[in-house]
Amino acid sequence: MKRFSTKAIHVGNEPNLKDGGSGDVVVPIHLSTTFARKNVYKPTAGYEYSRSGNPTRFALEKNLAALENGTHAFAYASGLAAITNTLLLLKQGDHIVSIDDVYGGTRRLFSKVFERFGLLFTYADFRDGNSFKKHIRKNTKIVWIESPTNPLLKIVDIASVAKTARTKNILTVVDNTFASPCFQKPLDLGANIVVHSLTKYIGGHSDAVGGTIIVKNKQISDQLRFLQNAAGAILSPFDSYSILRGIKTLQLRMQKHEENARKVVEFLSGHKKVKKTYYPGLPTHPGHKIAKKQMSGFGAMVSFELQGDIKTAIKFLESLRIFAIAESLGAVESLAEHPASMTHASVPKTEREKIGLSNTLIRLSVGIEDAEDLIADLNQALKNAG
Ligand SMILES: *Cc1c(COP(=O)(O)O)cnc(C)c1O
Repeated sequence: MKRFSTKAIHVGNEPNLKDGGSGDVVVPIHLSTTFARKNVYKPTAGYEYSRSGNPTRFALEKNLAALENGTHAFAYASGLAAITNTLLLLKQGDHIVSIDDVYGGTRRLFSKVFERFGLLFTYADFRDGNSFKKHIRKNTKIVWIESPTNPLLKIVDIASVAKTARTKNILTVVDNTFASPCFQKPLDLGANIVVHSLTKYIGGHSDAVGGTIIVKNKQISDQLRFLQNAAGAILSPFDSYSILRGIKTLQLRMQKHEENARKVVEFLSGHKKVKKTYYPGLPTHPGHKIAKKQMSGFGAMVSFELQGDIKTAIKFLESLRIFAIAESLGAVESLAEHPASMTHASVPKTEREKIGLSNTLIRLSVGIEDAEDLIADLNQALKNAG
């Protein structure tokens, strides 16, 4: 059982064919908060209390570990809960070098919460190879990267960053939400820890919020198992089930997402009202070569700049009929948003301009509807935007 979809469908879902087992091909939703035992010293099937361990959550965790070629995975109530648990590995005075356009919620957690507890952060541009090295201090413990980034789809050479970090005993953490394990496997590229918002491509149906940490090291895994239980932000049995269900079609969905994204990018790139299109699959994208090397697909997040001003951008968005104007990404339905007013509104204007996040930038999460309908929708909205 080596290939991606086979693992996605079967790992964690193995039917119990033992005497008394029911043979379900789908993992039941175990709602019980506690688990009775015959022997005071020995839990019946290893389960004691549902925060510490739950069979439905365990099934999902086993599956997630397999998808990323890791050995252990932990599921949390949200992507940010997973990121919080990762930082709980550190202690006061430890230093983190983070990519400068890290996900907004992660940046807020770093600067507004963990700085109060004495963690130190430096934000760096990771596009130009290993220039982040100059930010490394004696107390640097983690290098935190995303690739592709949000919303400008910058690409980081994960293998090269991980290699440099490893020589200095620094852990490389990759937030792999945008690529999904279907298109990119950071642990195979040398990273130590992968985090995901399960809310996005992995769940894929806009009906469950969740997060995960995946590792392939026993020592880190033991620490995380302790922290998951100690801090308590676990994923519920029902959401574990929903996400496990979503995963069964992850590869199918990613293939269609990408096929649609390519068609949308081709349409946008040739449109006179579009100033610039950002997509790592474009040969003109500055990170294209690295993306091609480390990803097996370019994903379905597409950003573009319109000709005109903020009014054009708002008119465009409000003219869309199939794309919903909404935050979030990675689910079956197509979404569009205005980073300057929505996901990145908390980034100061001067900072936004510095990183290239203009007022006419639109971010699309291309869904798996019919590409022709998506393109027709974009086309009519571009006309309407004037
Ligand atoms: C959404 C997202 C998160 C946060 O996940 P939640 O499930 O919303 O808490 C973290 N990183 C990236 C890249 C995301 O897109």
